[in-house]
Amino acid sequence: MSFTSLGLSAPILDSIATQGYDQPSPVQAKAIPVVLEGRDVMAAAQTGTGKTAGFTLPILEILSRGQKAGPNQARALILTPTRELAAQVAESVQTYGRHLPLSSTVVFGGVKINPQMTKLRKGVDILIATPGRLLDLYNQNAVRFNHLEVLVLDEADRMLDMGFIHDIRKIISRLPKERQNLMFSATFSDQIRDLAKTIVHNPVEISVSPRNTTAKSVEQWICPVDKKSKPALLTHLIWENRWEQVLVFTRTKHGANRLTKQLEQQGIKAAAIHGNKSQGARTRALDSFKKGKIRALVATDIAARGLDIDQLPQVVNFDLPSVPEDYIHRIGRTGRAGSTGQAVSLVSHDEFKQLSDIERLIGELLNRKIVDGFEPVNNVPQSQLRSPKHKRPKKTKPGHRDGQRSGEVARGHKPAQKNNKTQNRKKSANTRNQQKKTSNEKIWSR
Ligand code: AMP
Repeated sequence: MSFTSLGLSAPILDSIATQGYDQPSPVQAKAIPVVLEGRDVMAAAQTGTGKTAGFTLPILEILSRGQKAGPNQARALILTPTRELAAQVAESVQTYGRHLPLSSTVVFGGVKINPQMTKLRKGVDILIATPGRLLDLYNQNAVRFNHLEVLVLDEADRMLDMGFIHDIRKIISRLPKERQNLMFSATFSDQIRDLAKTIVHNPVEISVSPRNTTAKSVEQWICPVDKKSKPALLTHLIWENRWEQVLVFTRTKHGANRLTKQLEQQGIKAAAIHGNKSQGARTRALDSFKKGKIRALVATDIAARGLDIDQLPQVVNFDLPSVPEDYIHRIGRTGRAGSTGQAVSLVSHDEFKQLSDIERLIGELLNRKIVDGFEPVNNVPQSQLRSPKHKRPKKTKPGHRDGQRSGEVARGHKPAQKNNKTQNRKKSANTRNQQKKTSNEKIWSR
């Protein structure tokens, strides 16, 4: 399929060609025609699928056919959970709309409000915003929505995770009833479906990546390691594998700062981004990372949400996330838009529960690679994909599994015979994933 068959006009097709996109990604092929028809859409698509262009391109097309925005009005509103994502969506709108006479602006908190009020005064065709700042601006009469045509909720699941539900409801109550609604979310939980009922009408449902699966072009594995050896192991992996651009996740802001210092001490240029850093510092760090001036960007989940860094080859989970869905979001930063990537998790013994939750969520046991010189004293036990309530009675036959030490069977671990079944399940999960990968890649390159 080519972009020319989707109903987009020449100025937009020109911008797409300049970007070097040969064909629409699956979510674009599905979403663009239905959005152009004026239908509401609910799309399950992760970052990295090309979802931003999936809603931006048809919105630009629709708006280019109508009347320009009047003073303080916005014609399309794109809500995102984080400042970084808002800035990136705004950049995409600029890029794809460069040959169109449409205006756009982005507003988010953490920076002065007055320049944003000035920009809104003349009215904007496309407004990209985070919920809190948008409400502030609305309450100060800087923006009105009487002529709003399209609403986009981007990364709706994350908006709920971040506690934006009340802000979103308030914003929606101020919008005209007659409007087109597009909702994008990495997963569609029951809570998201409840929210959707109050927003979208008779939507076309689009899914390009089945619920709770990870991006298939990402090679994932874990390195079992003792907690105290993690900084040294990360340094070793970066030097040994010559990783030039690596996004590292830590669980806490403090952990991000500490690790950044440790990497710098080992001669690896690094910067941290998290909620305690000013917007300016976050933007500068991201910019230096994109330009290759720093080698490791150390981020917490919220700060990293939605980061769009072209073809990011390497993601490292220095700590496993406590919410298993965050694992999927994290590794969604790599292997994007058809390119392949690697996601490595450094897992210590005390993170066994998080690991098990993640492996259950993604439906597979992650490959393990113990790095020479970093063998853990406290090994990480193997998880079981099956939930404990389905556990079969224990057999007494003794045996060892990979990475298991003497005495573990006696302490209640599963025997070798069961292990074969686990391995077989793992193999068949891998085969299934391989098949999915192949079919995803085919769709992408068709
Ligand atoms: P997104 O999922 O919107 O964050 O997009 C992920 C990345 O895919 C961005 O870097 C886009 O520039 C890129 N991208 C979007 N659409 C295409 C396409 N049709 N072909 C190749 N790359 C694309």
